[in-house]
Amino acid sequence: MSDAEQNNPQELPSPLGLAREVEQLMKLPQHLCKQRGTCCRIATFKGSLSFDEIKALAADPNAPGHESARDFASVFLPYDSQAEVREVASEFVDRVRAVAERKGQDPDTISFFKCKYVLEDGRCGVHEDRPLGCRAYPFPHRSTIYHPGCGFEQQGVKNWERIEEIMRTLGMDPSQY
Ligand code: SF4
Repeated sequence: MSDAEQNNPQELPSPLGLAREVEQLMKLPQHLCKQRGTCCRIATFKGSLSFDEIKALAADPNAPGHESARDFASVFLPYDSQAEVREVASEFVDRVRAVAERKGQDPDTISFFKCKYVLEDGRCGVHEDRPLGCRAYPFPHRSTIYHPGCGFEQQGVKNWERIEEIMRTLGMDPSQY
């Protein structure tokens, strides 16, 4: 313990205080959303899963991520090809493929999706009943892939950096989360 900490024990962060801070950091302010509807029109699941992998998760109640896969599959339909997505969101496709390559995955197997409830003007057609994942999106996390120009990106990246710092303070390895 440093001299400063010994002299000012009240300044040491408490684990409970840090946990509360993480809870706050996980909730990105909704006013940052530019309401373009882009993330409803072009989405991936966990960054890089194929449609078959998502359907398998959704069908297996014991699989980790089952509930979010089931929610996702209840509103999203797959695009026929990455080429179709590339026509409207080429940079996002590049971002997603780059992450998959870094993880050693074949980027050609990634599926992209469009929600069946997004309206022409980008609003949600089932706003009151939208799935939990839509309500919480996007989570600040190193694996979150933001659309270029997304209003959440800057704050989300900053929040995740702080969350990683807190994890290290608590003796946790952020790469495990
Ligand atoms: S249910 Fe609504 S919020 Fe969720 S992806 Fe579809 S349009 Fe977007």
